[in-house]
Amino acid sequence: MDSEADHHQIHILFFPFIAYGHMIPTIDIAKLFAARGVKTTVILTPLSASFFSKSIDRERSLGLDIHIQVIKFPAVEARLPEGFESVNDLTSLDMVPNLSQAIKMLQEPLELLIEEHKPDFIFADVLLPFATEAASKYGVPRFVFHGTSFFSQCVDQSLICHKPYEGITSDREAFVVPGLPDKIEMTRLQLHDKFKDEDASPTVAREQVREAEGKCYGILVNSFFELEPAYEIHYEKFMGKRVWSIGPVSLRNRDNVDKVQRGKKTAINEHFILNWLDSKKPQSVLYMCFGSLSRFSKAQLLEIAAGLEDSGTSFIWVVRAIKKEEEEESGLPTGFEDRMKGKGLIIREWAPQLLILDHPAVGGFMTHCGWNSILEGLSAGVPMITWPIFAEQFHNEIFVTQVLKIGIRVGVEKSNSWMEPEDVEARKEEIANAVSRLMGDEEEGQNMRTRAKELSKKARKTVKEGGSSYENLTALIQELKRSHTQPGSN
Ligand code: UDP
Repeated sequence: MDSEADHHQIHILFFPFIAYGHMIPTIDIAKLFAARGVKTTVILTPLSASFFSKSIDRERSLGLDIHIQVIKFPAVEARLPEGFESVNDLTSLDMVPNLSQAIKMLQEPLELLIEEHKPDFIFADVLLPFATEAASKYGVPRFVFHGTSFFSQCVDQSLICHKPYEGITSDREAFVVPGLPDKIEMTRLQLHDKFKDEDASPTVAREQVREAEGKCYGILVNSFFELEPAYEIHYEKFMGKRVWSIGPVSLRNRDNVDKVQRGKKTAINEHFILNWLDSKKPQSVLYMCFGSLSRFSKAQLLEIAAGLEDSGTSFIWVVRAIKKEEEEESGLPTGFEDRMKGKGLIIREWAPQLLILDHPAVGGFMTHCGWNSILEGLSAGVPMITWPIFAEQFHNEIFVTQVLKIGIRVGVEKSNSWMEPEDVEARKEEIANAVSRLMGDEEEGQNMRTRAKELSKKARKTVKEGGSSYENLTALIQELKRSHTQPGSN
């Protein structure tokens, strides 16, 4: 007999961090819950709401109970430029303290929304620690969403606890990150600023994040058990919290419309891109994109262009120049785009990444190692060239190259403090070499391709009925329904 819990419709309020790399997977998760009969409302600021509203309206027209709730971002109140709405609008490191201040100011509108919507649960990004306090004021359980891998969080935790980098004299000397399931080595150069500089100004204070994690109901991670089983177990143990891995959440986007309406508006018509890819041989094209935030200097763009030309490989390259150089011309060598006609497609600012990665003509992905990009690349069965820029991207590079063994390093050694590196980090020879190794017919590239395809099969299986991510979500929804109908069980 069906229980009361089976029939009760719960309502979850989703609160993503204000960066596309966080909003995109959060919206995918809200859609996943809505597809299982949960009412979901996603809190967004006006501009991002305008980018995502088409796809959410479409889901609603197909019968899902999914909504957007727009809130104003307190930019001017925090002395940020008018119209500033997301981390993508940062133009310098000096703005970070103001951004942190504005983020803290979001607690009040969140509380008003909880009062108005009376949700049963709140799913807020790990970088919004105040959501725990706001939720507890109204007796609503809060979940934390982590947008990075278990591996990366285990590395982070080990670095925080054991400080293995202390006492290492050379920045290039490798040290072991202790207590992990595999022998993982790093250098001081690869470390995030927070380990090198106590005064580094993070967007959100680490202690508050830790405290909020400690008090939350449970943690949701965009990963899947078959990808990193030992790290998921390790993570759950040290956190002492319930953890649900429900990814890769990008696989929720099944048709081309879903794949195109995922984030900002695409700079080139998607039909043009698909026709261009259709004209290429299977696995012959390298897709190059460095996430939603990072930008390169003109000097670096010139090196990439020369490396690509020398490699002779077909490519799609999402080009973004650092903001202060943006006013100048394209940033590409004279005549490059003409010479590359038919061989290479340049897309400025924003590309439909999922659509491109899933096309059979794509055989490699040069990535900055953002976690969403890595999951999307491996779900498509594509091996990678890793070019981390900052934050935990260096951890992800190690995971891809040393643990999964589906990637080749371009050879960047040093983590940056800022998402727009001004220096040249990789020379044309290194770029051409990495591209030829990955895209060529040699055994090394072939083996990586085979492993990436195996991971893609696992990724697609895990989100289907019977798969671990699918069943984790089923179990979580059942638990939420039960805990809602049994007051005091949270
Ligand atoms: N993305 C995209 N087109 C672009 C750049 C990024 O669709 O031109 C998407 C990408 O598919 C991913 C997200 O934006 O889902 C970026 O997240 P990631 O974690 O890879 O990197 P971040 O932007 O957070 O550094």
